[in-house]
Amino acid sequence: MKYKLPPGTHDILPSEIPLWHHLEKTAHEVFQTYGYQEIRTPIFEYTSLFARSLGESSDIVEKEMYTFSANKSEESLTLRPELTAPVVRAYLEHHLNREKKFQKLYYIGPLFRHERPQKGRYRQFHQIGLEALGCYDYLVDIEIIDVTIRLFELLGIKQAQLVINSIGCPQCRPIYQNALKNNLSTIKTKLCSDCQRRFQTNILRILDCKNKTCYEITSQIPPIQTFLCKQCRNHFEQLISGLKEFDISYKIDSHLVRGFDYYTKTIFEIRHSALGSQNALCGGGRYDNLIEEFGGLPTGAVGCAIGMERVILALKAEIKNNSQVFACPPLKVFLALVEPELKMEGAKFLKELRRKGISADMDFETRSLKGQLRLANKLKVPYVIILGPEELAQGVVKLKDMSSGKEEVLKKEEVYEKISSG
Ligand code: AMP
Repeated sequence: MKYKLPPGTHDILPSEIPLWHHLEKTAHEVFQTYGYQEIRTPIFEYTSLFARSLGESSDIVEKEMYTFSANKSEESLTLRPELTAPVVRAYLEHHLNREKKFQKLYYIGPLFRHERPQKGRYRQFHQIGLEALGCYDYLVDIEIIDVTIRLFELLGIKQAQLVINSIGCPQCRPIYQNALKNNLSTIKTKLCSDCQRRFQTNILRILDCKNKTCYEITSQIPPIQTFLCKQCRNHFEQLISGLKEFDISYKIDSHLVRGFDYYTKTIFEIRHSALGSQNALCGGGRYDNLIEEFGGLPTGAVGCAIGMERVILALKAEIKNNSQVFACPPLKVFLALVEPELKMEGAKFLKELRRKGISADMDFETRSLKGQLRLANKLKVPYVIILGPEELAQGVVKLKDMSSGKEEVLKKEEVYEKISSG
């Protein structure tokens, strides 16, 4: 074997495709029910788009971007590591707000991050995401959470748990960051080496460090909720009471912070108990300042991104025998030839069947009739058409119903009718 997959990438083989189709189809249907429209943006964008929106000290910008330029005179480009910034760019570039102030958009596609690969964490992965641009109302936060939960419900995922927090705004967040700094400055040598670096570059990220000591240390510090300004506190309280009204169960986790700088107020994750350390099925939040930072008018916005690979892992964990539940439907017909000389006649008949919308195939490797029937059995087709020289001369074919074993001699037109209605 000369070539192998690069680390952190994966093939999606035909046996897995029905699960992916199930996820994609359900997502399209649910999102459209909630009034979201699909948007597609390029696979790469200018690097500055991500550097500016995610923050220079975010893990992604610091070390995970696939950045290149086609030639020296061209501005640096990056394979998209996330899709909120591209969607906001497109929203402003195409003046979508002029068409309709409140735009509800969704996307599906691959993303690229140079992360350390492990189960549920890849370097090329896929997200389905929602962005509601043009509204500050907490009810839109609830709508984004509700549509995501509805998607998981319809997919059959039951072990999903919503975790929420507020990350404040540029007014109150620095006060909390200062409090963190003051509390940690004398004990920072006890933190793990990553957190000692984060102390300088991105102190909030110390909160969600998986290291036990770091977690215990930060648990002693008053949570961000006690530092929120009036507006952020109101928003958070309204969100909590709204979730209760919607019967959505949640857990407040003051250790939850997200990796991107653009979040304001609400942040959330939906986690799955069977996924191990990479347990977030989705993550999202409000980003009320991003549109203005990109040169637009002050515009409230909220969104979330669902990791498709993780949803597939959750589906596999929850739905036993999903390979049967989500198997590709078998072909309707296998066309078997009594003699190899009939290959062209068979191929032409196959073409007619397919033109009529009947899924059908035949053997191209000159197997014996017995071999062809064995293949038809393996393919689990409900019907086999047997084409022989005598039948051909009389303008008929033999149709075998594989479940009853019954054989009938029929005209071609009768065959189409029978198979289509069967
Ligand atoms: P993020 O864009 O980092 O907020 O992530 C949103 C969701 O995408 C996460 O909750 C995961 O489900 C998924 N995700 C993020 N990074 C990866 C990755 N490297 N591999 C697979 N899924 C990922």
